[in-house]
Amino acid sequence: MARRTKVYEGKAKVLYEGPEPGTLVQYFKDEATAFNAEKRSVIDGKGVLNNRLSEFFMSGLNAIGVPTHFIRRINMREQLIRAVEIIPLEVVVRNVAAGSLSKRLGIEEGTPLPRPIVEFYYKDDALGDPLVTEEHIIAFGWASQQDLDDMVQLALRVNDFLSGVMLGVGIKLVDFKIEIGRIWEGDFQRLIVADEISPDSCRLWDMRTGQKLDKDVFRRDLGNLAEAYTEVAARLGVLPSNGKAMTKPTLVN
Ligand code: UDP
Repeated sequence: MARRTKVYEGKAKVLYEGPEPGTLVQYFKDEATAFNAEKRSVIDGKGVLNNRLSEFFMSGLNAIGVPTHFIRRINMREQLIRAVEIIPLEVVVRNVAAGSLSKRLGIEEGTPLPRPIVEFYYKDDALGDPLVTEEHIIAFGWASQQDLDDMVQLALRVNDFLSGVMLGVGIKLVDFKIEIGRIWEGDFQRLIVADEISPDSCRLWDMRTGQKLDKDVFRRDLGNLAEAYTEVAARLGVLPSNGKAMTKPTLVN
């Protein structure tokens, strides 16, 4: 069998050349990393869960007209995606204070924010992904003013969609990170949601108990990460809960 060409390998995913021009195969690994990869571990099943969860969120976004790179799932760990030119920014949207915002501004974790806040971080592991302003982004040519306006619009639409979906299954969307890519259609460029949307890149708190159901379970040693992700997947009807039959899925895609 012919070997596939690896295009890129990151901390949690591998990208291979796709079957047609303009496509890639995205493979989800079981590796978990935190604190700029200073903490790392292999969590059995994480890649399978994130492949399914990212499929669920991205296909939902596609269905409501928020463009994403997702084309279709191939198997347990792989999905077919559109190749994009990734904008070197992490776009974070926050609804509730947590993590680096709480630390930087001294706002207690769990404080609701007066409105969703969109932040940009420059993707550079060597620099630890620093927070940057729109001035930096434009001055250094990472994106144009039009791109920035489009990115904020996209990020807020993703926030509304994800917040609503999570609310429906008793989970508060505290914050999340997305990455955005450019695609070219003739002479026109379009920005679309890329990378992944999964509990690796969101903060998800149970609305009743406050239990954390996201990567903070790993970052802060709060328990079993795969169990937390399985709980999210089961509530969304994406996977049966703990192997039991899915009797009453809340949402099915
Ligand atoms: N996040 C991410 N990748 C990163 C940094 C942050 O996916 O490299 C996500 C993180 O999971 C959280 C949100 O972005 O949902 C905001 O993260 P924050 O800035 O609070 O940083 P952290 O506390 O995770 O270092």
